[in-house]
Amino acid sequence: MKHAIALYACAVMVLLGGCGGTQTAQPRTTVEPEPITHEHNPGDTSASETPQRKPDESDSTDKPANSLDGVTIALDPGHNGGNASHLSRINKKVPDGRGGKKACNTTGTATDDGFPEHEFNWNVATKVRDELEKRGARVIMSRDSNDGVGPCVDERGKFADEADFLVSIHANGSTDSSIRGFGVILAPGEKVEESTKLAEAIVRGFKDHDFPINRAGYGKDGMVERTDLAGLNHASVPAVIVECGEMRNPKEAERMQKDPDAYARALVDGIDAFASYATMGL
Ligand SMILES: [Zn+2]
Repeated sequence: MKHAIALYACAVMVLLGGCGGTQTAQPRTTVEPEPITHEHNPGDTSASETPQRKPDESDSTDKPANSLDGVTIALDPGHNGGNASHLSRINKKVPDGRGGKKACNTTGTATDDGFPEHEFNWNVATKVRDELEKRGARVIMSRDSNDGVGPCVDERGKFADEADFLVSIHANGSTDSSIRGFGVILAPGEKVEESTKLAEAIVRGFKDHDFPINRAGYGKDGMVERTDLAGLNHASVPAVIVECGEMRNPKEAERMQKDPDAYARALVDGIDAFASYATMGL
């Protein structure tokens, strides 16, 4: 799997002018204004940014097209249920992955009637996990319950080192309640080409399930590159944050609370498509 992804990345880099040198990030939409109103602290891997991919003969075995056997997927349900009651712990500064510091974690946002983002993230992530495991994937999670504290953003990236890729699950809390829709965030850097492919697959998954792209803060393609998200900065594998919707938008708030399966299905489709594509190679 990793070998296949590396082959894909190499092929892309060849198209861009070479493979093997320092990858040149091609920020497509580096966005400065951030209508996204809550801080995101997905994981951060302070691990080496050097790709550690090595050819792995076991990856080249033939697999059924729809199987996720042999694929390891890291899921990071944003925030945690105990964060709000442990502010001193989650406000502790940790490396942001670009030379600065950032709070360990945040509480996340909530709907106007108090349904918290951490619970939505957890509900969706566990459903995604269950379905991916049914399809043969190994799934690792950044947290194992919704009543704990943290982990810090750096750990939320590090835990994914052993996975093939990382998907962090969040929801937005824009104060303008007319804003709605999903968006996918990735970071410029070593893994930008593969992360872009992952982001594209997830955007397609959401669109296929009739979710609208969030027009406030994301490009027409539903994606944006950001440098301020510590988890993405430290990820040593392809990584994205998915903002599934807007919790202050009344219709989306209701759907998030009542129908997490809808979001899970969109995510699973996107994740499966990326994993299958990368496993099969070009
Ligand atoms: Zn969040």
